[in-house]
Amino acid sequence: MFGLEIFKSDNYLKPLNQSLYYFKPFYEGLFFYTLLCIWEITKQWYHSIFFMDILKDDAYYMRKALEQAELAFDADEVPVGAIIVQHNEIIARGYNQVELLKDATAHAEIIALTTAFGALGSKYLPEATLYVTLEPCLMCAGALYWSKIGRIVYGAADEKNGYSRYFPQQYPFHPKTTLTQGVLADEAAFLMKAFFRRKR
Ligand SMILES: [Zn+2]
Repeated sequence: MFGLEIFKSDNYLKPLNQSLYYFKPFYEGLFFYTLLCIWEITKQWYHSIFFMDILKDDAYYMRKALEQAELAFDADEVPVGAIIVQHNEIIARGYNQVELLKDATAHAEIIALTTAFGALGSKYLPEATLYVTLEPCLMCAGALYWSKIGRIVYGAADEKNGYSRYFPQQYPFHPKTTLTQGVLADEAAFLMKAFFRRKR
């Protein structure tokens, strides 16, 4: 009975309470810091699972451009597709629509560029990246120069109409534009060959 009486009073907690009181700011700080860490880790985990930021590399975005090229293929257009990405977000898509629009300049890059200018309300795209399945032609290289786009990534080389056929030594893009070539080149080239095989 007497033993239980001790627990009924709060006296036995006093020494503990006093030491806790002394360290209270420290424990509180630690508690909130732990909560913050858990929050940050959960947020990053959630983001990586649901937004797949880890997987969003050049190949990921080139697949999106290839999807556009497939739309062109299905519409009986020369299968070239392009997308424009800014801050991990696709802001424009385009595929070759020369036949549909009866417009020889309706290349995938031009359509994507026009959409991107409209989406951002800006005449320059210094922070954006263009992914296009085929090496740009001379006209598109010129349009990309004027757009001051930050980066260009293309897939297959175009030995017939690519800009580098005309300017093998020169860099036709804006000096601040960086260039990456050959991303998923085989897939893009396969689509082109399949298209011209079907045409024959
Ligand atoms: Zn072009």
